Amino acid sequence: MSARLSGKTVLITGASSGIGRATAFEFSRTAPDIKLILTARRIDTLREIAAQIEGESQGRTKVLPVMLDVADQKQVAEFVGSSLPEEWRAVDVLVNNAGLVKGVDKVGEIKDEDINIMITTNVLGLINLTQQILRLFHARGSKGDIINIGSIAGREPYAGGAIYCASKAAVRSFSDSLRKELIATRIRVMEIDPGQVETEFSVVRFYGDKKKADAVYQGVDPLTPEDIAEVVVFVAGRRENVVVADTLIFPSHQA
Ligand code: NDP
Repeated sequence: MSARLSGKTVLITGASSGIGRATAFEFSRTAPDIKLILTARRIDTLREIAAQIEGESQGRTKVLPVMLDVADQKQVAEFVGSSLPEEWRAVDVLVNNAGLVKGVDKVGEIKDEDINIMITTNVLGLINLTQQILRLFHARGSKGDIINIGSIAGREPYAGGAIYCASKAAVRSFSDSLRKELIATRIRVMEIDPGQVETEFSVVRFYGDKKKADAVYQGVDPLTPEDIAEVVVFVAGRRENVVVADTLIFPSHQA
């Protein structure tokens, strides 16, 4: 049981699979009396995860599953502005995890809709939700944690991934600027940049083609979502004046 995380309210985006889902479980296992707001578009999956966490924690972890498309600016504003119930508004930790790569991602070939979805989800969605949650943080004494899930792709761009890499580089710049902007407050901004993690990420990338997705992990030993979840919970659980600003984590074989 982590005394520092005990009783806190944590909001996780993209909690219906992969890293977000694993992070929800990890928070509950580390501090069972934590409150979790789990958001994504697949509400049925979120409800199942909520029931699993509530069962595993024997009802100690309270979970609020919320359908939220972070790429929809209006939805994000309404969610924080009015629909988030009063007893859930004392958010302590925001984990900006929702994100995706879509398509081949070569500049000359990529479809407009895929460019749009990556930028609106990975960049604008993260910025919009952060802006809204900052209002809640400031209303409660300018205190709270923002943990952004970036990517190694934001540091080391690769050919054939221009849009995704650019989107994650934007997350990195945003995190760094915001951390500096908030230096006089008790709001911590932290970024975790994973390398290869085996999740639904590649299935989404290849429009649901499981064969192509599986091929990505052939002959490699990727991280698990739990590897990243442990780091998220670790950084959130540090003493208030400790900022684990920037973490790069990747499989040991990954160049
Ligand atoms: P998954 O595909 O397993 O999870 C992505 C999550 O994001 C899902 O829960 C999905 O939920 C959610 N999501 C996607 N679009 C939206 C949206 N518009 N609104 C709300 N939620 C959305 O992949 P990962 O767990 O791997 O990805 C999590 C993060 O980790 C991403 O930001 C990704 O870029 C990053 N990352 C992943 C790496 C990897 O190798 N897997 C490497 C480096 C970084 P739903 O579909 O229900 O909305």
